[in-house]
Amino acid sequence: MKLDRAGLTGLLQADDAAFAPVFERAGEVCRAQFGDTVRIRALLEFSNHCKRRCRYCGLNCANTALPRFRLTPDDMVHTALEAARCGYQTIVLQSGEDPFFTPDLLASIVGRIKRAAPGLAVTLSCGEFPAEAYRRFRDAGCDRYLLKHETADPDLYAALHPDSSLEERVGCLRAIKAAGLEAGGGFMVGLPGQTAQTIADDLLLLQSIPCDMAGIGPFLPHPDTPLGAEQPGSASLTLRAVALARLLLPQANLPVTTALGVLDPQAAGRVYEGGGNVVMRKVTPPHLRKLYQIYPASFPETTIEEGRRALEQSLRARGKIPV
Ligand code: SAH
Repeated sequence: MKLDRAGLTGLLQADDAAFAPVFERAGEVCRAQFGDTVRIRALLEFSNHCKRRCRYCGLNCANTALPRFRLTPDDMVHTALEAARCGYQTIVLQSGEDPFFTPDLLASIVGRIKRAAPGLAVTLSCGEFPAEAYRRFRDAGCDRYLLKHETADPDLYAALHPDSSLEERVGCLRAIKAAGLEAGGGFMVGLPGQTAQTIADDLLLLQSIPCDMAGIGPFLPHPDTPLGAEQPGSASLTLRAVALARLLLPQANLPVTTALGVLDPQAAGRVYEGGGNVVMRKVTPPHLRKLYQIYPASFPETTIEEGRRALEQSLRARGKIPV
């Protein structure tokens, strides 16, 4: 099995029977690394304001149909501590690119959380900043930064992102690594114009950084975006991409993405057998969960504690050990 560009492209296009041993092997590599454990993370979406116009994303600033919200720093700290109290050991703070949250403000929020809960790992996922901002986040105690490269095809990237280039995006990922943060990358499967070869390049890009984690999820059309009439990405191709990512990056954290769970809950369950070892649960205030609308979806409006318990139960029912 050759995991170069041609080999990966071939495997992504192979028939199911030919891919089955690859899927199995990805599961074995994952078990050798993590046993039956699944790492669970709390996800706090703290602002859906965004200055960008990414053509697939419902948060893009041209979408005037979406009511916007922004949590206060106090509410963010409070929610992070509540997540820690409910057993979470990692909180992911995610937002659109909201100019209200300057690097200084984000660093001060991270610092407050770390002082109150030193054992809680803090991940930021708030988009592109100059390299010095990532160093600031690290100095404030931030542990990881999530910034998907979205697609490794520079022309497709430029067509989808009027405000940025693939080069800038990858430059940010390298700056994140250089700052000493764990780098989380990732991409979407099924973007209009993407080919199997693009996905092969996506996978090789993750390896070249190298990413410490990688979120790989299907593209889901949002009706109030320019891509609203397109088809969603394929769940089975997403499963293949995760399995191949596991073979390329044996030690990486590979989440079962929320987008895959929305598209096809059964396929999402299968990711645990083919390389996935992480899952995130929203701890965003319940009435705001549906407003963090990168794609349309509804989420249970349970409390942080109830959500955590339900997730642990569903993992145990599949023979997994939540950690
Ligand atoms: N502003 C931050 C967070 C973006 S939202 C940043 O730039 O990194 C988090 C992720 O949601 C994005 O990286 C993208 O991969 C995904 N996403 C956005 N719109 C989507 C859509 N329509 N379908 C599937 N995933 C989407």
